[in-house]
Amino acid sequence: MIYDCLIIGAGPGGLSAGIYAGRNKLKTAIIEQGQDGGQIALTADIENYPGQVLDGESGISLADRMASQAERFGVERIKDSIGSVELTGDIKKLHGKKGTYEAKTVILSTGAFPKPIGCKGEAEFLGRGLSFCATCDGAFFSGLQVFVVGGGDSACEEAIYLTKFAKKVTIIHRRDELRAAKSIQDKVFKNEKIDFAWNSVVDELKGDDVLNEIVLKDTKTGELRSIKADPADGFFGVFGFIGFSPRSDLFKDQITLDNGYVVTDEDMHTNIPGVYAVGDVRRKSLRQVVTAAADGAIAAMEANKYIEGLK
Ligand code: NAP
Repeated sequence: MIYDCLIIGAGPGGLSAGIYAGRNKLKTAIIEQGQDGGQIALTADIENYPGQVLDGESGISLADRMASQAERFGVERIKDSIGSVELTGDIKKLHGKKGTYEAKTVILSTGAFPKPIGCKGEAEFLGRGLSFCATCDGAFFSGLQVFVVGGGDSACEEAIYLTKFAKKVTIIHRRDELRAAKSIQDKVFKNEKIDFAWNSVVDELKGDDVLNEIVLKDTKTGELRSIKADPADGFFGVFGFIGFSPRSDLFKDQITLDNGYVVTDEDMHTNIPGVYAVGDVRRKSLRQVVTAAADGAIAAMEANKYIEGLK
């Protein structure tokens, strides 16, 4: 079968594209290898998506509603991991573990993944004290100390979320001023469970079996200082939120990229006719649920126009 539109990735951009493509009666499938929602699946609270006023509603439940909406418009869901793509021909081919999928148009919605902290011991302690998802792993650190690396919106919002579980949350930031939006900063500074290690980066994570020592480096003096877990606790948690990298390896040889991000025009066209990119994988100035959703709507409408033009 040849689909009208195949969407790779079920984050807000891909799901929104699905809603619009399905509503246009395009034969559409969204291919996702993991959980729906992309980055918002890692977010405890979505506060700024227009209309999102339910207190404490998670990113996962917002993504679930978007997915049901797409399915209601007849969009097929495929669980598969795409390993290679052929995007240049009239019929685009996506090769997954379970089979090859063909379509007249493709919407790239592969998103981004958290940047590693870049310290010694990082690989060793991943999943054994080091995490990049507070929603997934915060509860493991109930009553314990937690460190959050980064000074942007993600670091601050997730630090606030982690205070639900942790006895104390220390934000480690490489400068002496946060990057986060002022409204989020206000909440962080008001929270009595949060303190700061300014002008600091993580040099090393240490421990025997579990993470129980963090070595910080002063970004001004280069001085190292070690913080050990309270012996009564035995270990602590470290969460990294220092930004994201685009997930574009899959198509880097065929699609024009800038610093790893897909270059599109304002209507989401890539350099290949019939191929569009939306959401966090795209080069743009504001990566938010609302902008990903808008990208998805535009890309699906453009895909519809392209298919009409083929008739
Ligand atoms: P971000 O805004 O890029 O912030 C990354 C933070 O990590 C910065 O404070 C940066 O320090 C620090 N950092 C970067 N590289 C580092 C390194 N190698 N070592 C130590 N620290 C490092 O990333 P984000 O917070 O994940 O946000 C990404 C995008 O999503 C942003 O556009 C943000 O506005 C958006 N977002 C929005 C919301 C919301 O609106 N509620 C929530 C989450 C994310 P410097 O400040 O010194 O550069």
